[in-house]
Amino acid sequence: MAVRYRDRYLIDNDGPLPPELLNDLDLAYEVAARVNRMVPCEGCGTCCHQSRILVLEEEMEAISAELSMPVQRFMEEHLRRKGDDWFFSVTGPCAFLGEDRRCRIHDVKPRICRDAPFLNTQFIGAVLYLLRNQRQGLVLPLLGTFLMDDSPCSLKAAAMVSEEIALLLQRDEDDQGGPGKVCRSPGAA
Ligand code: SF4
Ligand code: SF4
Repeated sequence: MAVRYRDRYLIDNDGPLPPELLNDLDLAYEVAARVNRMVPCEGCGTCCHQSRILVLEEEMEAISAELSMPVQRFMEEHLRRKGDDWFFSVTGPCAFLGEDRRCRIHDVKPRICRDAPFLNTQFIGAVLYLLRNQRQGLVLPLLGTFLMDDSPCSLKAAAMVSEEIALLLQRDEDDQGGPGKVCRSPGAA
């Protein structure tokens, strides 16, 4: 079962997220946000080829208006449903990716796209996995599909992520007087 974290990230978990997992997710989110700020986009277009582009219900009206079509038609033509969530239906390049590699719905694109490339479920999940290993002294490389076909931003992120995790773990330990125990969700920045 998938549980929402910060309203838009889908985390596989049976039941509500326990405090220790929420604490680690907050740390992983913070690492992802720092990497997101530090790594510039080089416009390769790769992140618009992912299969799980989440579209929130509150975002549908603006996108349909931009496309000059009723919301119902937009949903039928462009979205697929999984459980309570809606995703763009295409699995290759996004239908709104222009030939110039620019987004044709830039002003109204989903929040998940505005948060690209690293504030997404896949990357936060990967950082969570690395962070939990690193807390035990095992420093693992960033590998997997979130590397987005070796896109330039992914390679830069891979080079910095373990150091960013180390900084956050150290700060968390300093804050708590030991390994992280306190849950800062919800609403932690
Ligand atoms: S994959 Fe990275 S470099 Fe390429 S368009 Fe997306 S954010 Fe930019
Ligand atoms: S909506 Fe725009 S930014 Fe988002 S995946 Fe499609 S083309 Fe890329």
